[in-house]
Amino acid sequence: MSQQYRSTRTSSDQALSFEEAVMMGLAKDGGLFVPSSIPKLPSSFLTEWKDLSFNQLAFKVLRLYISSEEISDFDLTRLIQVSYSTFRHSDVTPLEPIDADNNLYLLELFHGPTYAFKDVALQFVGNLFEYFLTRKNAGIDDPSKRDTITVVGATSGDTGSAAIYGLRGKQDVDVFILYPTGRISPIQEEQMTTVEDENVHTLSVKGTFDDCQDIVKQIFGDEEFNSKYHVGAVNSINWARILAQMTYYFYSYFQLKNKLGDEQSKIRYVVPSGNFGDILAGYYAKEMGLPIDKLIIATNENDILDRFLKSGRYEKAADLSKPAEVKATYSPAMDILISSNFERLLWYLVRNTVAQGDDTKAGGIINEWMVQLKTTGSVVVPEEVIAAARVDFDSERVDDQDTSKTIKQVYSNHPEKYVVDPHTAVGVATSYRNIAKDAQNGAKGVYYISLSTAHPAKFADVVNQSLGEFEGYSFEKDVLPEDLKALALKEKRIQLIDEPSLEKVKSAIIEQLNK
Ligand SMILES: *Cc1c(COP(=O)(O)O)cnc(C)c1O
Repeated sequence: MSQQYRSTRTSSDQALSFEEAVMMGLAKDGGLFVPSSIPKLPSSFLTEWKDLSFNQLAFKVLRLYISSEEISDFDLTRLIQVSYSTFRHSDVTPLEPIDADNNLYLLELFHGPTYAFKDVALQFVGNLFEYFLTRKNAGIDDPSKRDTITVVGATSGDTGSAAIYGLRGKQDVDVFILYPTGRISPIQEEQMTTVEDENVHTLSVKGTFDDCQDIVKQIFGDEEFNSKYHVGAVNSINWARILAQMTYYFYSYFQLKNKLGDEQSKIRYVVPSGNFGDILAGYYAKEMGLPIDKLIIATNENDILDRFLKSGRYEKAADLSKPAEVKATYSPAMDILISSNFERLLWYLVRNTVAQGDDTKAGGIINEWMVQLKTTGSVVVPEEVIAAARVDFDSERVDDQDTSKTIKQVYSNHPEKYVVDPHTAVGVATSYRNIAKDAQNGAKGVYYISLSTAHPAKFADVVNQSLGEFEGYSFEKDVLPEDLKALALKEKRIQLIDEPSLEKVKSAIIEQLNK
């Protein structure tokens, strides 16, 4: 059966292929692509899949969402193999028991080229883009006739490098990443600007992250520019990113179950969340049939998801009489006002409840809600919808003070002084709150897998500020990996745009593309 995709906002019988969904990214109506039926796992998967490697599991999972007419077994195997060969750990995403006495495990997702969890998805997406483009361009030698894509994105630091490392050197792809001059950390700037591949371009824009984001949005809205240069995005709403992230839920589930060797234990996942892409992959895994007991959303002070789960109100701000603003926290990759991928979950919740299984009806309702969210900043969902959300999800909100306290706590309690990054710390703080509740309720046999989304070296300021008080702590010795140290010595290629001007950015892009 070939898997088909539709927009979360359409009331039509739309059916797109995997390739169309991936290459378009966002639907024309502003919605996100979803597979309307979530595939079920083969009944024997618990025994048959339990000893598979990461790559073998990735193949099993991806195959359920991509038909073999679209990508053959041979090609899919190769795409997976190439994508994860760039990871430094043989398990790709290893499980680390950081507090075995309390049944707490960390799922380390930061062993990819840029030391961030987004590598798991973007390494695959980069190869997928190249695969689709070179297939389309087979036999076309004239460069002006080839299908190409110009990926344009803005970053506040962390995500740009993962996109660059996913797309570097890829045929028929150019990537432009805008970042605010002087407002990202030195390591982040080094990671982005020392990449030598000719298809990688970073633009240091004198302005704020919001300025960069606005320019990117305007470029996407510019139809003439867009049709001429085929502007694409690899932002967190791309379906292929969600898909690639499912693998580590399966892999870690089996790793832990195999180790525990018992049937009864319950496994819960705790996920530091911003745009809801990471945890949404866990939702798909659970819906497919992986026996996950609960998915726990961990937010920082930008807590729209935590407020939704507690109140059923999806609102830009707790107090709508004031202008909604993003708060800058210790975990910047989770600093969001609204959570883009949450729309996908809402679509399933609506489809399965108030829309009574009707895809087109669900699309109509989501479309209305998204318009309402945009105009009033608030959507209040029916009781059935929030009740359905609470079956699978729970949530906590962790402030900066608790984040820093948790970095200290993990470090001082761990026999080998384990250092967590601030995003991971939001998840660990959430895990400990749940562990305390379990102890109070006498719940037994509950295990927590808390997702570790970044290497601590990438967030040196908060880590050092938290751990500086410990005697013997050294960032250089205990935290900073050798290859990140080496980046400081490499030559940086920086193109400065001296004011946040759309025209200046566009000319810089055109100039590079014409080279
Ligand atoms: C992107 C990111 C997150 C948030 O993931 P979402 O998929 O947006 O919820 C958390 N931590 C780090 C380090 C990230 O880069």
